[in-house]
Amino acid sequence: MRLKDKIALVTGASRGIGYASCLALAREGATIVGTARSTKDLAELEKAVTAVGGKAKTFPGDVTKSADVASVVKQAIDAFGRVDILVNNAGIGGYRPFLDWTEEDYDRIMTTNAKSTWLFCKEVLPHMLKQGGGNIVNVSSVAGLQGYPNEGIYCMSKFAQVALSQSLDREFYQKNIKVSLVCPGGVETHFAIGDGRTYDGANMKGFSSAEDVAEAVVLAVLPRDRSRVVNVILRPMNEMT
Ligand code: NDP
Repeated sequence: MRLKDKIALVTGASRGIGYASCLALAREGATIVGTARSTKDLAELEKAVTAVGGKAKTFPGDVTKSADVASVVKQAIDAFGRVDILVNNAGIGGYRPFLDWTEEDYDRIMTTNAKSTWLFCKEVLPHMLKQGGGNIVNVSSVAGLQGYPNEGIYCMSKFAQVALSQSLDREFYQKNIKVSLVCPGGVETHFAIGDGRTYDGANMKGFSSAEDVAEAVVLAVLPRDRSRVVNVILRPMNEMT
């Protein structure tokens, strides 16, 4: 129980990597605050966390809306008085030949992936500063470290998360706020089946599991006095690059 007494706010908690991260953090003793849009799936998450002996509260919200982000953070603070761990995980993909991308695609993907990360950091950091520390984990991607064909706007959004993480790490580590990146390659989730990777569905044989990524999230936030985890890169076993 290495995260006993920690309050962990996880976005995109309704399924996939976010859901698995909630369970992994709860198994280490953290109290979970989960958010996403799907209330039914959030109710399932609360039950699943309870089933592993943990405690969870969920607050529905749309990460693209600043009022929802502020409201989710306020509800977390009202319920538990603090946020020790923020996991910015909510995200969507997109796969199009470059000339097919639309302005609507740009706004939707950049806002869901990049702006939401900024919004949550902006809302949570004042509380972490007041508390005297905290951990932020931004779930970016290997597509935030190198460009991939047909994923131009998705890559832009994931590079933006990397840029923000590096900037916040340097700005806040001396205040005991540790900012980590987790950069997975292909992961076997809803994201990888749908528009996130291909129109037709990806061959997910050899992809990482959501639980693999959740372990990386836990690794990033485990208490340690002398180090901070800056970046964890997971490459699936079916991928050479
Ligand atoms: P899923 O599609 O399984 O889950 C995405 C989560 O994000 C859901 O909980 C969804 O909840 C939430 N979400 C999406 N849009 C919004 C929104 N507007 N407001 C609130 N919540 C939202 O995907 P993964 O678990 O695979 O992806 C999680 C993260 O991992 C993403 O940032 C993705 O870029 C990254 N990643 C994934 C990889 C993969 O191959 N799967 C590879 C590398 C990185 P709901 O719909 O209920 O709102």
